[in-house]
Amino acid sequence: MGEVVAGIVESFRQGFEGVDSGHFTVGGTPVACPHCKGDEFDTATSLLNTRGLSFLGLDFANRDGYLLVCRKCSHIDWFLEEPTAL
Ligand SMILES: [Zn+2]
Repeated sequence: MGEVVAGIVESFRQGFEGVDSGHFTVGGTPVACPHCKGDEFDTATSLLNTRGLSFLGLDFANRDGYLLVCRKCSHIDWFLEEPTAL
């Protein structure tokens, strides 16, 4: 299961276009990693209706979402609202 998830995230990251500072806000609050307190992330749009996520049995498979992947520890934060790049 872990390998499946890692493959999905990697495909998202490859699909991300552009390089930014890695700093984002969501809902007006700067995003910080809850695990390592890092504040630089890579972002990607998650396509939740992918075959991979359907395989995982996620019941919200038709909604889009936004992933922020901590550059330091690789923790993934998942938002339904699009993060604002700083
Ligand atoms: Zn982190």
